Amino acid sequence: MSQIANSAAARDIAHYLHPYTNLKTHQTSGPLIITRGEGVRVFDDEGRGYIEGLAGLWCTTLGFSEPRLVRAATQALETLPFYHGFGHKSTPASIDLAEKLLHLAPVPMSKVLFANSGSESNDTAVKLIWYVNNARGRPEKKKIISRTKGYHGVTVATGSLTGIAPMQADFDLPIDRILHTDCPHHYRFSEPGESEESFASRCADNLEKLILEQGPETVAAFFAEPVMGAGGVLVPPATYFEKIQAVLKKYEVLFIADEIICGFGRTGNMFGCQTYGIKPDMISVAKGLSSGYLPISALMITEEIYQSMVSESEKIGIFGHGHTYGGHPVPAAVALETLRIYEERDMVGQVRRIAPHFQTRLAELSDHPLVGQVRGVGLLGAVELMRDKATRTGFDPADGVGTYCVNRSLAHGLIHRAMGDSLAFAPPFIISEQEIDQMVEMFKLALDDTLDWVIQRGLFKQP
Ligand code: PLP
Repeated sequence: MSQIANSAAARDIAHYLHPYTNLKTHQTSGPLIITRGEGVRVFDDEGRGYIEGLAGLWCTTLGFSEPRLVRAATQALETLPFYHGFGHKSTPASIDLAEKLLHLAPVPMSKVLFANSGSESNDTAVKLIWYVNNARGRPEKKKIISRTKGYHGVTVATGSLTGIAPMQADFDLPIDRILHTDCPHHYRFSEPGESEESFASRCADNLEKLILEQGPETVAAFFAEPVMGAGGVLVPPATYFEKIQAVLKKYEVLFIADEIICGFGRTGNMFGCQTYGIKPDMISVAKGLSSGYLPISALMITEEIYQSMVSESEKIGIFGHGHTYGGHPVPAAVALETLRIYEERDMVGQVRRIAPHFQTRLAELSDHPLVGQVRGVGLLGAVELMRDKATRTGFDPADGVGTYCVNRSLAHGLIHRAMGDSLAFAPPFIISEQEIDQMVEMFKLALDDTLDWVIQRGLFKQP
């Protein structure tokens, strides 16, 4: 960690307001200043290297030094540093990228709308749901359901969809017309002896109850990540999406798949929708779309939705929505090159080859006294810590056990994130078996340090 005396750290504290940071703690802790990256590692301003166990923020799938992406960006900047898509304008890169995304889509999709971040794509989806139901003469059908612990972004609408308390507390969210249904975390929320299948049925029944309580004529859409990321890498229980989709279909509720983490191979298929048999009406992607190298996101929509939008924009005179930088030719060129690399190097195959080693090494941690559950799919994983494994009782969030643990990981040369007391892993797809071993060994040291710390503080229930 940079010393406060270091002028960059002092200037950071003085000037830079950090997202998802305890602002008070930051005044004394200061920042960790990352200055460069290479492969799966990043380096701080004192030259210390860290394995990036979360690919930055689940995004740098190709690691931190892919020269082809640098060349694609440079070339695009030299050719056309900006243009837009407003008022019938276009650029070759955005045309090619839209076409390519539709070609990759897990179900037939008709059009692509670009933006700059995952939040913006999901926010756009909310607006389109409302727009389309107005076009279809169903002005009452506007409510949107997401899930407790789901993460869909931070704008006013997507922060409302997000079902995690600190993202809403005192921001006066959620806004109305946004509802939450069960979090499908079998390990924490199932009844004693309840199978994954029965738990999934209960989640689907509760969703149906919610729709009926609200009135199906008022419920427009359901948002879900195939695997919940920021909620703690929550893998859906067996039969969950099958049962949820049956309910949605019954009441004509659209399914919006948030593929912002799962998209482009993370779960071992090009899309999480393929891993879990999801047939969405809209799909939002970002992060892995450009390997995180430049900001870009995209929302894919079906032909039916597009047709309703056409009639609405004809009525109003224009489709009154767009971001200045949506479809920007430079990030679009980088995204295209990223998708080319995924294909040429068979990155989905690479994830499938390396994932068993990753999952096996993580699963070995189940025996650790602190570890309640290890879960994951593809190159996504989480280790959930428990105060008392036998009764599945977690720590008091105020004790900050997860945060302590990731800080210990950092001290051992590993960066990843704590989602409460679930420690998440989503390394770059290019990670080797040896680097996975190093990552797990560093994490084991952090777990041992954390066990000592909770025992010393009397927080741990000894088995
Ligand atoms: N949806 C999911 C599943 C995400 O993980 C994220 C970000 O982590 C978002 C949406 C929001 O994306 P952004 O931070 O680019 O706005």
